[in-house]
Amino acid sequence: MKALRIGDFEVHRLADFAGPSFPPAEFFPDFDPEVLRENAELLGPSLIDPESGMLVMSFHCFLVKTPRHKILIDTCLGNDKERPSRPRWHRLKSSWLADLAAAGARPEEVDYVMCTHLHWDHVGWNTRLVDGSWVPTFPNARYLMARREFGHWQEVHRGGEESPHSLSFADSVLPVVKSGQAVLVEDDFAFEDGLSFESAPGHTPGNVVIHALSRGQRGVFMGDVIHHPLQLLRPDWSTRACSDLLLSRQTRERLIEEHCEKGSLVLPAHFPPPSAGRILRHKRAYRFENA
Ligand SMILES: [Zn+2]
Repeated sequence: MKALRIGDFEVHRLADFAGPSFPPAEFFPDFDPEVLRENAELLGPSLIDPESGMLVMSFHCFLVKTPRHKILIDTCLGNDKERPSRPRWHRLKSSWLADLAAAGARPEEVDYVMCTHLHWDHVGWNTRLVDGSWVPTFPNARYLMARREFGHWQEVHRGGEESPHSLSFADSVLPVVKSGQAVLVEDDFAFEDGLSFESAPGHTPGNVVIHALSRGQRGVFMGDVIHHPLQLLRPDWSTRACSDLLLSRQTRERLIEEHCEKGSLVLPAHFPPPSAGRILRHKRAYRFENA
């Protein structure tokens, strides 16, 4: 897939998986099938799988090449991870590392990993399995995480919760803490190259979106503030994966409105390819126009 540009930045989408993922009625507690019927034309087969009725989703992250650094925004699912409660992605084998190389970055060249949040499907490639243990995939990178987010999942992990998030905290987050590569930052952390965090809580307690600003062009890495283009028709629909459904809704409504106004390039973490585009007004809500 062709790289996108945000001013001087080159952006590559790197996916571990794309395809039918969850039934909408299961994923959105407030789901109303009437919305699908009313908007059938807008929600074609690339968004809703015609055979299964499932939401077509992508699990990807982004490589941002600034003139000075190679930066990953999240790290997707990762290979070989034990995720028994997510059979489709359990012990995954994907070509992600080869795709990273094809995008022009070897693991040792990655300077920073910036995390929108610490859910299992966003931290996977933080580590890889070498001789039976989890080692940082990017030996020279610093992993930037919001302090609030890290603290939350540390508590969850210590409490012994059995969830993919707790498993991923152990196999994909703690190893980069142990290696001294994790850097805990505030929710409004600003990075020199023109990348910055903005607090966007609700999906997780310390969730952030990541802004990229270069030569007056703006991109916003939305993480899981919006999971699927269907939510532009219904910004009030949070997902079962959100830790606080009401706060998640408030954050989503605020950011959709703001970036529709600004005409920002929006890059969510689970929209089907090309996974980047602009938010336009549509009827009483919005729609997504692919970049
Ligand atoms: Zn996610």
